[in-house]
Amino acid sequence: MQIMNIRTNSTSVMFINKPANLITMYDVIIVGGGPAGLGSAIYASRYNLKVLIITELIGGQIALSSEIENYPGTIKESGMKMMEEWKKHAEEFGTKVIQTTVKEITKEGDVFKVTTSKETYEAKTLLYATGAHHKNIGVPGEDEFQSKGVSYCPTCDGMFFKDKTVAVVGGGDAALRGTQVMLQYAKKVYLIHRRDEFRGEPILIERIKKDPKSELVLKRTVKEIKGENTVNSIVLDNDQVIEVDGIFIEIGSIPNTELIKNLNVELVDGLIKSNEDQSTNIPGLFAAGDVTTGSNKFRQVLTAASEGAIAAESIFEYIKKQDN
Ligand code: NAP
Repeated sequence: MQIMNIRTNSTSVMFINKPANLITMYDVIIVGGGPAGLGSAIYASRYNLKVLIITELIGGQIALSSEIENYPGTIKESGMKMMEEWKKHAEEFGTKVIQTTVKEITKEGDVFKVTTSKETYEAKTLLYATGAHHKNIGVPGEDEFQSKGVSYCPTCDGMFFKDKTVAVVGGGDAALRGTQVMLQYAKKVYLIHRRDEFRGEPILIERIKKDPKSELVLKRTVKEIKGENTVNSIVLDNDQVIEVDGIFIEIGSIPNTELIKNLNVELVDGLIKSNEDQSTNIPGLFAAGDVTTGSNKFRQVLTAASEGAIAAESIFEYIKKQDN
């Protein structure tokens, strides 16, 4: 044990390395504080497990959602507000929440070690619930005009386009929700989709179609984003030029699996292969939410939370077996 700076005339005692008996062994460390992670923490804490969540953003991607209208019992709520409530709920039952970036995850023997810039935390099991990040369309101008008219978050940046003209690209729920958000601010919103059928909820499409400020541009893709200092137009694949002040790209997401790859976890199409009980091929490693193959790839707050709850029960059973 190395000890530094013991000031006997004060109560301050600082250790470089914590002695073994001072290291907290968590039952589960949950990496990711979105619906899957927070949902799991509520259940795991109520199983009396010692739970630590480490997350960059409380709520993950859902915190950026302007409105959630399809979580039972919540008719309309902002994603951020809803997730703050879930965090409080988890804390109420004893979950510890640390908001920071995880740098590394390792497994030594049966122990998972999760390292942040400040500390390494240890646990008997790990729930990986890191979600996903947005996809790029990969056309000229996309990188150049990022934050200068190109955005991936209507909820975050919508207000900067008050009374302006914008385009939203995509045909899933994210694009439809994004279009709805932009219709609140902009004077004109083009919804550009590469097919004439949408993946998103029909009720959202109906609302958009009814709004006179919207225009659907179907069977078209964007091939270039142009501007001077900021975006001023987009060019479609038929060479049509549409003048816009901004473009919101909402074409799906890529699972955040980077941190876990060194554990040799099995992936399918880039997603962690999760079993029915949310376990993975690595003993003690569980996964839930958008980063997994679970719930038939149906990405909802409800399904992510359900996977989190199932994972909590599986973790409880796993630890019970290990301890016996
Ligand atoms: P998504 O459902 O995968 O939709 C992505 C859309 O982008 C598709 O319509 C796709 O077109 C289009 N696309 C993909 N690559 C493209 C490209 N290179 N160029 C042009 N278009 C492209 O993704 P999402 O909308 O982000 O939603 C992800 C999950 O989160 C879904 O399960 C969704 O239901 C859920 N979600 C739910 C809510 C909610 O409020 N409940 C909100 C947001 C997201 P194709 O259709 O032709 O493939």
